[in-house]
Amino acid sequence: MEKKNILTGDRPSGKLHLGHYFGALKPRIELQDKYNTYVLIADVQALTDNFNNPERVSQNVREVAIDNLSVGIDPNKSVILIQSMIPEIAELTVYYSNLVTIARLYRNPTVKNEINQKQHLFGNKGEGVTYGFLGYPVSQAGDITAFDGALVPVGEDQIPVLEQTREIVRKFNSIYGDTLVEPEHLLSENPRIKGLDGNEKMGKSLGNAIFLSDPEEEVSKKIMKAVTDPQKIKKDDPGNPDVCMVYYYHKLVNKTTLEKVCEECKKGTRGCVQCKQELIAKMMEFLKPIQEKRKYYEDHPEIVDEILIEGTKKAQLKAKEVMKRVKKSMKINYFE
Ligand code: ATP
Ligand code: MG
Repeated sequence: MEKKNILTGDRPSGKLHLGHYFGALKPRIELQDKYNTYVLIADVQALTDNFNNPERVSQNVREVAIDNLSVGIDPNKSVILIQSMIPEIAELTVYYSNLVTIARLYRNPTVKNEINQKQHLFGNKGEGVTYGFLGYPVSQAGDITAFDGALVPVGEDQIPVLEQTREIVRKFNSIYGDTLVEPEHLLSENPRIKGLDGNEKMGKSLGNAIFLSDPEEEVSKKIMKAVTDPQKIKKDDPGNPDVCMVYYYHKLVNKTTLEKVCEECKKGTRGCVQCKQELIAKMMEFLKPIQEKRKYYEDHPEIVDEILIEGTKKAQLKAKEVMKRVKKSMKINYFE
């Protein structure tokens, strides 16, 4: 049987963080052995809410590529590509925009939530939202279908966006005939990693993240400020690990003393400062091999460029093949 295609990716709106690692990168590394994996660096999508700051996007394209390479995405197994270099995606977006209503886009809970978070751009009530931002799920349908993506590994926030792709694909196939692959989502084991501030989602744009590339001083500063059980005031007060962000991250990276941390906290024999210091050490143990690999790629930018150029070339071939099929189905394949 032919291997299925996976489409996955990140917006180059900043470097990648722990939420990405556990929610998206770790599953991606495991999947690349079983499927044809396309890792899309979504610069066009990042511009939808960074259109006034294009440097932020362009500077982060290589950073996001390096983050992926540093955690173990292997360019011999996965295709890493830059979205804006695949014009077919933009073309598909135009055709798909006829298949979705504006009301439906407004109802998308993820889009709604993101518009609310971006009041500085889109106004207090979202009255200034742009056509481009509201329509990013349509462009995401372009990303996925341009590579016949059958499986899309996602964090929780992306489920409603993927549902929009599925609706577009079904509508396309019902009007123009069976042409596009309808993708399914693959929800990660850690679909939503919380932020240092206790916010439900760690996000690049939310100021509550530990980045994979953060040096020890930075990790240390952030963890020292992380939210702990507000009822545990003195060192020997018994605490509730379930409401503590420090324990929450211990669970992610501490493979050896987790039980001890939990018991001592509950008994009141461990202070929060000690607990934070231990977490900093565990976190650095976890980040160190990733950061060593990152350093290698930072020292060899020509290797990163080569990987991006080669990946994008392969992706262009695939997208051209899909585009041909789409135009034929839509009967706009003139002079063929
Ligand atoms: P931005 O705030 O700019 O949107 P982001 O942190 O949401 O950035 P994206 O590049 O939009 O990051 O997301 C890339 C992938 O990582 C998506 O599949 C998303 O679901 C997943 N992801 C992002 N943040 C988390 C998180 N905190 N927990 C689990 N998965 C996450
Ligand atoms: Mg996001």
